[in-house]
Amino acid sequence: MSSILERPAATAAEDTPKTTDGFHLVIDALKANDIDTIFGLVGIPITDLARLAQAEGMRFIGFRHEQNAGNAAAIAGYMTQKPGICLTVSAPGFLNGLTALANATTNCFPMILISGSSEREIVDLQQGDYEEMDQLNAAKPFAKAAYRINKAADIGIGIARAIRAAVSGRPGGVYLDLPAQLLSQTLDAEQGRKSLVRVVDPVPRQIPAPDAVKRALELLKGAKRPLILLGKGAAYAQADADIRALVEKTGIPYLPMSMAKGLLPDTHAQSASACRSFVLAEADVVMLIGARLNWLLSHGKGKTWGGPKQFIQIDISPTEIDSNVAIAAPLIGDIGSCVSALLAGIGSGFAKPDAAWTGAIAERREKNMAKMAATLEKNPSPMNYHSALRAIRDVLKTHPDINVVNEGANALDFTRSIVDMYQPRKRFDAGTWGIMGIGMGYSIGAAVTSGLPVVAIEGDSAFGFSGMELETICRYHLPVTTIIFNNNGVYKGSDPNLNPKGPDVPVTAFVKGARYDKMIEAFGGVGYNAATPAELGKALSEAIAAGKPALINAVIDEAAGTESGRLINLNPKKGATK
Ligand code: ADP
Ligand code: MG
Repeated sequence: MSSILERPAATAAEDTPKTTDGFHLVIDALKANDIDTIFGLVGIPITDLARLAQAEGMRFIGFRHEQNAGNAAAIAGYMTQKPGICLTVSAPGFLNGLTALANATTNCFPMILISGSSEREIVDLQQGDYEEMDQLNAAKPFAKAAYRINKAADIGIGIARAIRAAVSGRPGGVYLDLPAQLLSQTLDAEQGRKSLVRVVDPVPRQIPAPDAVKRALELLKGAKRPLILLGKGAAYAQADADIRALVEKTGIPYLPMSMAKGLLPDTHAQSASACRSFVLAEADVVMLIGARLNWLLSHGKGKTWGGPKQFIQIDISPTEIDSNVAIAAPLIGDIGSCVSALLAGIGSGFAKPDAAWTGAIAERREKNMAKMAATLEKNPSPMNYHSALRAIRDVLKTHPDINVVNEGANALDFTRSIVDMYQPRKRFDAGTWGIMGIGMGYSIGAAVTSGLPVVAIEGDSAFGFSGMELETICRYHLPVTTIIFNNNGVYKGSDPNLNPKGPDVPVTAFVKGARYDKMIEAFGGVGYNAATPAELGKALSEAIAAGKPALINAVIDEAAGTESGRLINLNPKKGATK
C-alpha cells in the first residue's frame, strides 16, 4: 500500500525517489522559504497535504473553523513580517477563510490563504461538482493578489509569487488556489527540485527621496504644536529603537493607535494618550507614522481635529497619501528607512517643542489620569468594567511581555485605555474594521508564534464568534487565559423586551448567569468564576503562572456597558429622522 508520506515511486533500493508530486512540492516550496507553520482545517482535498506538512517537520495547527485559522495566520504575519499560512478545504471552508483574508488585507497583515478546489473543468462549465465554486474569482476583491497554480512545475514559482505579494510594499492577504488534481500530479524529482524558488529579499527596503525627507523636516521644525501619531504600520515595521529615538530626540508628544500601544511603553512621559482629544484638536503639525486617516481618526477632519493643521505622512503606499485630506509632506518608503533618514537629518540640532505646548499637555494628562484613577478605585458590587480592569491591569503590569488580545464593544474601549502596554507588537485587537470574531484565532496565532502567554480580554458577545477554539487551545496546551466580561448580553444584558407578550428574550440578551468557565473544563482546561476584583486578580495571576489553558468568567453588572460602546454615532436609531 502506498501512502502520501512516501515520496512517489520511491523504492527501498533507492536513496532518492525519481519522481515527486504536487503535495511534496507545495511543502518543499514553503519550507524553502523558512515557513514552518500552517494554520488550517483538514478535509477534501487537503487532508494529506496537512499530514505531509507534519511528516516533513512543519507544525500544522488544526482549528474548528477556518475563520479562526485565518485570523491566527494573519496575526502570525503581523508579528513576524513573514506571511502566515492558512490552509482550507474548498467552497465553504474557503469562504470561511476568506473573511480572515479580507480582514488581513484591510489591516495590512501578510498572509496566504491556500485552499484546495474542485475539478477545474467541471467548475468552469458549472456542471455541478462536490463543493463547486470559482474560488479564484471569488477571492479577488478581498485579497491583495490571487493566483491559481495548474501545473506541478509551477508550484515553486507560484508560492514565491504569493509570498512576495503578501509581504512586499503594503502587506496584505494573498489567495492561492490549488485544484485537487494539481496535488497528485507527478514530476521528475530533479526537475521538481529545480523548480523551487527561494524568494530573495522578500521585504526590500524602500528608501525615501532626500527632498521628501527635507520637506518633512522643515515642516516639523516650523511647528509650534507638533504631534506624532504612531499606527500599527509603525509597530509592524520593527524599527522600534529608531522610532523611540525619533520621539525622544525631538521631544514631540505622541499618540499610539491601539495596536501601536507598547511601541514605546504606555507609561512614557511623552505619551499624550490621556489627553487624546486635546492634542488632536490643538496640534498644528501632525506626523503620521504607519497610520491611516480612516474612520478611526475621523478621516483627518471635523471637530475632532479642531483648527487648521498640516500633515506629514510616512507610509509605504503612495496612494494612501491625500486619501482623506491634503498631506503637506508625504514621505514614501519603509518606516525603518524613513525614520532613520529623519534621524540623520535632525542630527543634534532639533529644538524641542515649546514648553507652552508640552506643559499644557502635561497639565491635562495629570488631571485626566487622576480622574481615571478615582473611577478605577471604586468598588461597586457587582463589578463593572473599571473595577475588573483595575485588577487585570495590576496583574499585567508585572508581565510586560505578555500578549494581549482584546475585542468587544465596551470590553475593547475600556481595556484599550486602562490596560497599559510595555512592549511592541503585544496588543492584538479589533483593528481597522473594528470587528469582533478575532479573539481565539489571534490568541492561538500569538501563542504559537511567540511561545509566550496570551491573555484574551473578551466581551461575552465577542467571545461567541470563536469560542469553540477553546478546544484547540486545550488540544495544543497553549498558555492562553481568556477573560470573559460576562454581562449577559450584547452591549449589556439589562435591555427590556419590547414585546413582553412575545415568546422571545430581548434582541441583545444571552442566557443569564452563563458559566463560560465550564466550557473550558469540558476540554481539560482550568475554569474560574470571578465575581470580585480580588477573585479576578487572583485567578489571572494563578492562570498565568500555570501557563496552561484557562478561562475566567468575570461576572460584571449586567447593566454595565453602553450600546455600541464608543461607536454610538455609527449606530442608526429608528425614529431619529422624525
Ligand atoms: P492604525 O490602524 O494603527 O492607524 P493602519 O492600519 O491604519 O494603522 O495603517 C498602517 C499603515 O502602515 C498602512 O497605510 C500601511 O501602508 C503602512 N505600512 C505598513 N507597513 C509599513 C512599512 N513597513 N513601512 C511603511 N509603511 C507601512
Ligand atoms: Mg456583553
